[in-house]
Amino acid sequence: MKRLTLAVLVAGVCAVGAAAADRPHRRLEPVPFTQVKIQDRFWTPRIETNRTVTVRHDFAKCEETGRISNFSKAAGTMEGKFEGIYFNDSDVYKVVEGAAYSLAAHPDPELDGYLDRLIAKFAAAQEASGYLNTYYILKEPDKKWTHLAKMHELYCAGHMFEAAVAHWRATGKKEFLNVATRFADLIGRLFSPQGKHDVPGHEEIELALVKLYDATGERRYLDLSTFFLDMRGNEAEREKRYGPYCQDHEPVVKQTTPVGHAVRAMYLYCGMADVAAYTRDKATIDALDRLWTSAVTRKMHVTGGVGARHGGEAFGDDYELPNASAYCETCAACGLIFWNHRMNLLHGHAKYADVLERSLYNGFLSGVSLDGKKFFYVNPLASSGNHHRSEWFGCSCCPTNVVRVIPSVPGYVYATDADAVYVNLYAGGTATIDHPKGKVTLTQQTRYPWDGTVTIRVEPEKPTALTLALRVPAWARGQTRTAGLYRLAASASLPPVGVTVNGKAVGEHEMKDGYACLSGTWKKGDTVELHLPMPACRVYAHEKVKDDAGHVAFQRGPVVYAFEGCDNEGLEHVYVSADAPIVAAHRPDLLGGVTVLTTTGKVRRDDGPDTDVTLTAVPYYAWDHREPGPMRVWLPEQRDAARPMPKPTVASESKVTASHCYASDTVKALNDQVLPKNSADHGLPRLTWWPRRGSTEWAQYEFKKPARVSAVEVYWFDDTGRGQCRVPKAWRVLYRDGGAWKPVAGASDAGTKKNAFNRVTFQPLTTDGLRLEVELQPTFSGGILEWRVE
Ligand SMILES: [Zn+2]
Repeated sequence: MKRLTLAVLVAGVCAVGAAAADRPHRRLEPVPFTQVKIQDRFWTPRIETNRTVTVRHDFAKCEETGRISNFSKAAGTMEGKFEGIYFNDSDVYKVVEGAAYSLAAHPDPELDGYLDRLIAKFAAAQEASGYLNTYYILKEPDKKWTHLAKMHELYCAGHMFEAAVAHWRATGKKEFLNVATRFADLIGRLFSPQGKHDVPGHEEIELALVKLYDATGERRYLDLSTFFLDMRGNEAEREKRYGPYCQDHEPVVKQTTPVGHAVRAMYLYCGMADVAAYTRDKATIDALDRLWTSAVTRKMHVTGGVGARHGGEAFGDDYELPNASAYCETCAACGLIFWNHRMNLLHGHAKYADVLERSLYNGFLSGVSLDGKKFFYVNPLASSGNHHRSEWFGCSCCPTNVVRVIPSVPGYVYATDADAVYVNLYAGGTATIDHPKGKVTLTQQTRYPWDGTVTIRVEPEKPTALTLALRVPAWARGQTRTAGLYRLAASASLPPVGVTVNGKAVGEHEMKDGYACLSGTWKKGDTVELHLPMPACRVYAHEKVKDDAGHVAFQRGPVVYAFEGCDNEGLEHVYVSADAPIVAAHRPDLLGGVTVLTTTGKVRRDDGPDTDVTLTAVPYYAWDHREPGPMRVWLPEQRDAARPMPKPTVASESKVTASHCYASDTVKALNDQVLPKNSADHGLPRLTWWPRRGSTEWAQYEFKKPARVSAVEVYWFDDTGRGQCRVPKAWRVLYRDGGAWKPVAGASDAGTKKNAFNRVTFQPLTTDGLRLEVELQPTFSGGILEWRVE
């Protein structure tokens, strides 16, 4: 009963505000996620985990970190100063948005009540003018609107608007929407052609204002969004521009390639697409088309990650797509999904849904752990074993983006136009679609993304003439459609895409804009079956991507694969056999149920013949759930490109233990023969005793067999300027003698130099183990990158 009420309410409130008829320039209309119920083995567990774990986890973190009490303090109902970073309000709004989506799909009185109390805090914190930003209210009340380049005031406002619209759509309650419109009206009074000329350093408000327009039908919000877009890079305000980092280097309609901060760029393009849907500004649409082509043919990782550089969290140059140092922020993948959804609606072409799918199943989904409690901020395509998800970040934009994207997934599945229903994603479940030609229910059954067979039951209320447009992904046609940035090569020739209607093969279906179009009069019980060939494929990057030259990646269906150290001994020294078959096998017991790929390769050795290995890959999104170790998406296909396996040494064959090792570090770092560039090198595995500080710790080698030794060399980890590890205060070498640890005799000085090995010689002795006893500096922790023994 409750669910029914909610559904009626949602349908009712959606009728208010701007309608599809106001957007004549957008080819497709989305089918809102409230009308699509996913019921499958892949997305249902994730949506449920998001609802029951991630929403609560994120709210708990917002409580713990003062993000929520900032509102009470701003309202004057609590004593205290502003806590955290100046844009922390946005995190709270984003979790509210995610929670509202969850609530719309799944009634939850407890969550509903929590949101009401939270929204009351927002309302209480709002100033009489309509202003609401807890940083400025609490910390710099006289500096409002003075540092838009850096200070994210309008960015926070945008996230408030998105959350408020989501909450209103989910519950029909207007309290939060009223807070949002009061604030938007204040912003509208300040910023206008006649008023203040400025733009947000971090885009977001542009797309959010269009959502506010959609919800309220108040044209001034669309106009304000257009104003902010027109002001960006404005020729007349040349001296005030904030530069390419904020996409404020030239007018948006003149921009040709994504530059600067990747998340900002994605949000900007979303706002442009939203406004263009209403206004059909040809210059804006042309700019979007140029930016899209540039992004997906020259600046996108195979995982659908964007923003290659750590510096400025930014887009790199064309074909600058590194692996270990790839940034690929989770938020940028969210942004790429948002943008491609809008481009698909704007143009009605399936190629945008292809990009959305690539990001969704790979570079976005890697951003959250299977248990919904840990997150990647950065999503590299290679790791030495020291990159791990965290429960939260000082800047926690990514966890709070994940929480709103996961429940939105059902909203990306379908779209409509006057004649057709478009199926953009394949996922089991039922959708009730209010098509202009009549209500129709579609039920998908599929094991996607592990299997390319999709059965769709079509149930119109009455027999209806309608086109069912099924996206045929580029990978199912043997090539990606990203104009050559990535080329797929199937191990066997690709069988054709098959379509049947009521069991009868449809020979010649019309292909239009990437969709297989099935036209006819549909009646209850009609069944369509789509067979997308899903062989495991080798993927090759464009020759100009120098980091992938001579390398190969693996993809099956929409899923890109990764090789992890825990499945592949000697991973950092392997090369793949170019012609070896790739075998796919489903493993329901592994990582929540995944299809793994196996193939063969060799470990390159310079001390003897190369050895054969079986290589196992798991989906990229699922990496870093087991024992820490190296990871690679791209593997060399040529021997020359593989790094030779070093010769075994006394150290490398030892068993390593330590008094303590931080959870995301590994004792194996000590003898892995991977050499650091300097003591602050974060690019390779390490041992640290974090969070222990000022204590005496140890690390030890137990030799494979007794050995005669006379020296050790230790490379200390020290991340001064970034973290709390320093070279130790002092250390000494012990050896094992009849089970007891004794100091070595005649030891030379034990150095604590940075950026070099510290060598200690001692009287030669025969032993079965050595230990380093390390006294940490007071108040600091410490660690080791490599320890050699002679
Ligand atoms: Zn982020």
